[in-house]
Amino acid sequence: MTIPDVRVYEHLMPAPPTGQSPVPVQANPRAYERPAAQAAPATPATAPQSTPPRGAGGFDPEAARRDVPVLHRTVNGHPLVWLDNGATTQKPRQVVEALAAYYSAANSNIHRGAHTMAREATETYEAGRAAVADFLGAESPDTVVFTRGTTEAINLVAQTWGRANIGPGDEILVPRLEHHSNIVPWQLLAKEKRARLIPVPLLADGSIDQAAFADLLSFRTQLVAVSQASNVLGTVPPVKQMAALAHRYGAKVLVDGAQAVAHFPVDVRELGADFYVFSGHKLFAPTGIGALYGRPELLEGMPPWQGGGNMIDQVDFTGSTYAPVPHRFEAGTGHISGVAGLLSAINWLTGFDREAVAAYEQGLLAYAEQALGAVPGLEILGSAPGRIAVLTFTLAGHDPADIAHRLDRDGIAVRAGHHCAQPSLRHYGVESAARASLALYNTGEDVDRLVASLLRMTQGAT
Ligand code: PMP
Repeated sequence: MTIPDVRVYEHLMPAPPTGQSPVPVQANPRAYERPAAQAAPATPATAPQSTPPRGAGGFDPEAARRDVPVLHRTVNGHPLVWLDNGATTQKPRQVVEALAAYYSAANSNIHRGAHTMAREATETYEAGRAAVADFLGAESPDTVVFTRGTTEAINLVAQTWGRANIGPGDEILVPRLEHHSNIVPWQLLAKEKRARLIPVPLLADGSIDQAAFADLLSFRTQLVAVSQASNVLGTVPPVKQMAALAHRYGAKVLVDGAQAVAHFPVDVRELGADFYVFSGHKLFAPTGIGALYGRPELLEGMPPWQGGGNMIDQVDFTGSTYAPVPHRFEAGTGHISGVAGLLSAINWLTGFDREAVAAYEQGLLAYAEQALGAVPGLEILGSAPGRIAVLTFTLAGHDPADIAHRLDRDGIAVRAGHHCAQPSLRHYGVESAARASLALYNTGEDVDRLVASLLRMTQGAT
């Protein structure tokens, strides 16, 4: 499958990543901030030992950094170190330009093709759908439903497929490492249908206990809902094997790809996913847009979710008929500019060698794990092999919120709290932790700045 030719809308489809910005990206210090040059130097108290990976495996992070304007600003007088990619990723200028181009030259509602711009906007929207299908290795664009994001996509499945297929006594298996978005919708459904939501235990390293999973599966299991990468522990479960096993019992498998899509290539058919969901904003695209993939026969059999415009065929007070899949699940006006941005983000990311990006991130993770090991009292939660570059940690004697606040003073953005995954933190006996989550545009220098700042903290520096 290829992305349809939408030459007319070339301005919405920035060229694949150049790695060489035609316009050099300028630092954009805010008026209230000192320029980076005047910032207090964040010198490591003890320099990390190993060499930061740079351009290893054929991918040069500077090529990505050049495209992302926000990475060139300062925060609290320091050049920004963005280590909050698990919460949201920063946007390449190509994505920002796609949004500006859409609103400057092509804004129209879609699927009501009375005029040229309606047709153009529709073509952009459908090109976005085709790009998502291609990105996920899906059968066809018709398997892709646009949603606000991962959370909405999971709720859509719970309230359509779930309501139609889950009944009293049925079981839904959910590993303990899931994000609340992949727990609560199933909890609501289970309560409504008098079904059972069963947590799958974790091992000490934060991987899913596969023996327990196999034991818990039965012919009562209707659904396994599992993330392809954990936002707290970084665990990348063997989803393909889990799906194959679940299918032997006739269970369906929903895969939460929110934390996976930005880190490694995904193929939903190879994975055996019945449903796959992700959020655009964790994939360098705007907020408010995401997608649900569903196997064609499953989507076909699902009742509509929200009612309204766009999702109908005929409406009468005696009853209504519905539009074909996927439009049946997209009531109301969609996030058209968001789709233009998502399309651009996919083009940007897939313009890099994704295997090389994944290898680079693995090198960066190994470097970060080693460098953080130099910080006394620091404990990383999760050590499963093959993790994504997410480092959730506690630091003895320091409250996670305070850690995040102190790092912010050095221009370093990390997140602190429960990360919307309380059961996975409780697995390690904590309610809160700090998290540094990396992306392809992070570098060894970013890690060095983090470690230096943490070391100063442990040495009592203010
Ligand atoms: N699942 C996982 C694994 C996540 O990391 C997140 C976001 N942190 C979500 C689901 C929810 O994503 P969103 O808020 O974009 O719907």
